[in-house]
Amino acid sequence: MKLIDGKAIAAQIKAEVRARAEKFFERHGKQPGLAVVLFGDDPASQIYVRNKIRACEETGVRSFTDYLPADVTERQAEEVVRALAEDEKVHGVLIQLPLPAHLDGKRLLSLIPPIKDVDGFSAENVGRLALGEAGTVACTPLGVMELLRRSNVSPEGKRAVVVGRSNIVGKPMAMLLLNANATVTVCHSRTADLKEECARADILIAAVGRPAFITADMVKEGAVVIDVGVNRTERGVCGDVDFGAVCEKASLITPVPGGVGPMTVAMLLQNTVAAAEAQEG
Ligand code: NDP
Repeated sequence: MKLIDGKAIAAQIKAEVRARAEKFFERHGKQPGLAVVLFGDDPASQIYVRNKIRACEETGVRSFTDYLPADVTERQAEEVVRALAEDEKVHGVLIQLPLPAHLDGKRLLSLIPPIKDVDGFSAENVGRLALGEAGTVACTPLGVMELLRRSNVSPEGKRAVVVGRSNIVGKPMAMLLLNANATVTVCHSRTADLKEECARADILIAAVGRPAFITADMVKEGAVVIDVGVNRTERGVCGDVDFGAVCEKASLITPVPGGVGPMTVAMLLQNTVAAAEAQEG
């Protein structure tokens, strides 16, 4: 078994982003700008936002943060997002999810122009991905593809199984693997024989949100196992894969923490710099 070191690969990507941000500054006299909008005081969201701001500082991306109270009105929230959509210093806008229940997330996200949608969640960017056209791709699945690429794993001709079908991880993950010529199976809570499906995977991606859900008997000898899960338990943060047992069978595996997580932030910065370059010409 070999560990895929997401932290080290993310650091490489951040160094590349920094070089691009510096070049951008030389050409345009301003930094690429990323705006993050955070609603309420959810502790996990606050940590994610802090990490993103710190990563911006490390890479020469200017960050703008709007902290809005959980009871903000729909109208106030829309005004903030609209202003960011028009602000020329801001090249990427990210709304930190989850949102307070009274806000219409779909509507708020639709106010971000696709060119500034650095999360890749807009209908236009999702559609582009489905059509195999260039666009902005959701950071977590994009980060997984980059982990595979930089670990010399080509999905072409491989049997890839994605467990999870959410709009932010599972579905875009499956489309990326399909676009990379893998033979893709997507599993979910209604999959009839999950163990059998998983055990056929050359590349197994777990995006379920349940600690140690993928056990060794679900994994083929020599498979590449990517653990997207982030589960907070009494014993700390763990992934969706029973790491201790599965690492005996996998040829390559990502740890949690230190696997996919750091890549999500690195890809967000990469998407932001790419958005800035596209907007400024
Ligand atoms: P969701 O809860 O939106 O989706 C979970 C998926 O898992 C669903 O498609 C669900 O199926 C499926 N599922 C749940 N239970 C089972 C089961 N018993 N058998 C088979 N499938 C099941 O989660 P997300 O996609 O948003 O996130 C998945 C995990 O990835 C979470 O742990 C999350 O914290 C983590 N994550 C990590 C990121 C990172 O940067 N590392 C970024 C984003 C997420 P169904 O659709 O049928 O309900």
